[in-house]
Amino acid sequence: MRGLMMEVPLLVSSLIEHGGTVHHDQEVVSRSVEGPIHRATWAQIRERSKRLARALGAILGLEPFDRVATLAWNGFRHLELYYGISGSGRVCHVLNPRLAPDQLVHIVDHAADRALFVDLDLLPIVEPLLGRLETVRSVVVMTDRTHMPETKLSGVHCYEELITACPADDYRWPELDENDAAGLCYTSGTTGEPKGVLYSHRSTVLHAMTIGLSDYFDLGAGRAVLPAVPMFHVMAWGIPHAAALTGAKLVLPGPRLDGDSLFALVEQEQIEFACGVPTVWHGLLTTMRHHGRAPVGLRRVLVGGSAPPLSMVEAFEREFGVEVRQGWGMTETSPVGCVNTPKPALRDLSEAERLRRKTWQGMPIFGVRLEVVDEEGRPVPHDGITNGRLLAQGPWVCSGYYRRENRAVRDGWLDTGDIATMDADGCVHIVDRAKDLIKSGGEWISSIASIAVENVAASCPGIAMAAVIAVPDERWGERPLLIAVPATGVVPDRDRVLVFLGECLPKWQVPDDVVFVDALPIGGTGKVLKARLRAQYRDHRRS
Ligand code: ADP
Repeated sequence: MRGLMMEVPLLVSSLIEHGGTVHHDQEVVSRSVEGPIHRATWAQIRERSKRLARALGAILGLEPFDRVATLAWNGFRHLELYYGISGSGRVCHVLNPRLAPDQLVHIVDHAADRALFVDLDLLPIVEPLLGRLETVRSVVVMTDRTHMPETKLSGVHCYEELITACPADDYRWPELDENDAAGLCYTSGTTGEPKGVLYSHRSTVLHAMTIGLSDYFDLGAGRAVLPAVPMFHVMAWGIPHAAALTGAKLVLPGPRLDGDSLFALVEQEQIEFACGVPTVWHGLLTTMRHHGRAPVGLRRVLVGGSAPPLSMVEAFEREFGVEVRQGWGMTETSPVGCVNTPKPALRDLSEAERLRRKTWQGMPIFGVRLEVVDEEGRPVPHDGITNGRLLAQGPWVCSGYYRRENRAVRDGWLDTGDIATMDADGCVHIVDRAKDLIKSGGEWISSIASIAVENVAASCPGIAMAAVIAVPDERWGERPLLIAVPATGVVPDRDRVLVFLGECLPKWQVPDDVVFVDALPIGGTGKVLKARLRAQYRDHRRS
């Protein structure tokens, strides 16, 4: 017997309709590419999204399901594109401006994007490529007439002119099927060719509804949130959607994610909650230390994208009284799969133990199922010790890749490529990525590798950032090598670092050598590019 409830589809347009009506006067603040801080309300964002939706058909001639690419930072126009494109039945394809030109061409071509919206300062990336972007028929520069740059490109539109030409008044969002495609995001490709993940309206809305809950991102009309994660990185982890749904004040930092710029914006806009990858928090912590305090109002940061070292958790919580929550996810999981919210039963733990547990990735959020399996695909015991491959399942987990043979999903589970343990509470601890494993003594030994050792290395006095990679070794097959960035003003001392590591780690896990560098190579989404380090230090021998 079927239930007798209305079958109203879950659509991206319903998010902005709700935000624009119920929370019409709540603010959306952006640091604009042109310079000044821009202030709008959710009602204005809704109105402009509708104008844009109309312009996509009336001026650019786009059809339903056409892919529309964005090459842009976190700002109000990008937000309008999220709603105008998806809401009108097209597919919003977010592009990462930090990709190499050939990769961008490949992705645009693969997605067969029909139009490209580009931020003013990113136009120089597009200009040399345009002859190669065969499917793109229109380019729109996301600015007003006054700031429109000179360009050799023909048929280029100005965003503000485009939307001014189209009234919003009688525009009605189309009634779509909730399983239709709404967004497209390619994996950041740290471990291989980028693959397209195609989000549906339903997956986007369900994900937004869930991440806003109080045990996860804790969003609401009384809160101000800042995604310090780019809107091209898995759609800023769903925050632009969840903020409209909950009526939170949304603060978009533009292109500037350095510590000083974030500190100023967080304080000025009274941000309580911000999300980002560890490299972004590393920058903010440096500024916080410089000022000797946290930005006023900042209550909690969510760290995701890669594991935060214990030293980072300790710095936020102990030095500055800012709560750290960790989240785990991937492009394929929309992205949020786990959030590490301490259970009430853990309240009585010692502070040291409580903080140590914050370096774990956390429990699956409602809707996501996770399992850890051995090489034969059998679930391993949930003892917090035995590790295996982490599998995921859920309404916002991808079932296949866009225009690609699907190899990631088997028997209804996505193989995440991460190696993890799970304890009796379902708390997941990622110990490695399958591709980052180090082969020592002829066997794949995951625990020798990066995360645990990096954690210890990052806590070593005088080290600011650390990465551990596998380098070929005649005797053992592979051995770990530490690449470290010394803290400001510190003269690096290899032997001292190795002695410190030797005191904290089992002998076989201690890297054979340390290479000091000025900076680690960081990819487009703020993660350390291990593949590049591995290639660079392939022939490294201890001097
Ligand atoms: P890519 O796989 O190309 O880096 P994603 O941005 O989708 O692209 O990254 C997903 C991966 O990032 C996960 O599979 C995992 O390895 C890593 N990751 C994400 N969050 C965390 C976390 N909190 N701790 C450890 N690793 C994480």
